[in-house]
Amino acid sequence: MRHSPINSEALKKVAVLLRDHSLPQIANTLHYACHAVCGFPLANLPYRPVWLVITPRCNLRCGHCSYGSPDSPREALDCPEMSLRTFARVLDRFPRAIAVGLGAAEPFLHPRVFDMARLAHRRRKKVHLPTNGTLLGERLDEVLDSPVDFLNVSLYGTDGEGFAELTGGRPDAPTGTAAHVGSLAAAAAALSALRGVDD
Ligand code: SF4
Repeated sequence: MRHSPINSEALKKVAVLLRDHSLPQIANTLHYACHAVCGFPLANLPYRPVWLVITPRCNLRCGHCSYGSPDSPREALDCPEMSLRTFARVLDRFPRAIAVGLGAAEPFLHPRVFDMARLAHRRRKKVHLPTNGTLLGERLDEVLDSPVDFLNVSLYGTDGEGFAELTGGRPDAPTGTAAHVGSLAAAAAALSALRGVDD
């Protein structure tokens, strides 16, 4: 029996869903789809992404940030980094979560950030890494080797002067970060082409 193109596309999506997700995550996805149809009643949003503060440390000092601003209360900065063990326990508590964010403040300052990414990936979570990008150059190889699904890079300003004023950082950082993002994108594209050939 032949399937129409629409049906075979739908079948492919179902196959990917089954391959990449656990049963609780599939239930969550279906629940999410139902809520999407109903217009997302905000009081009961079911998607449950887990967005975590794995470190309070940052190498920038943005005036608007509760972690980086020199005016922030000390308690925000003094809280300890999340251990790998605690991270695993949090993931245990949210088996339906499809995504996990390794967030605020600067995740590249956490010594186990890539171990966390690998652990989350083994639990079939999509891994988000939000970064200010200033350390990307030193971590490019590790990013490429890791199962990070989404890398969000914040650029605080389009010129060095504005960037330095907002973040207390070095005026050459925006240019350096943009270059690192470019290198990462090129390396990721080359890697995925290579994997395509291997497959
Ligand atoms: S780069 Fe992000 S985490 Fe760091 S101080 Fe600025 S806003 Fe806060």
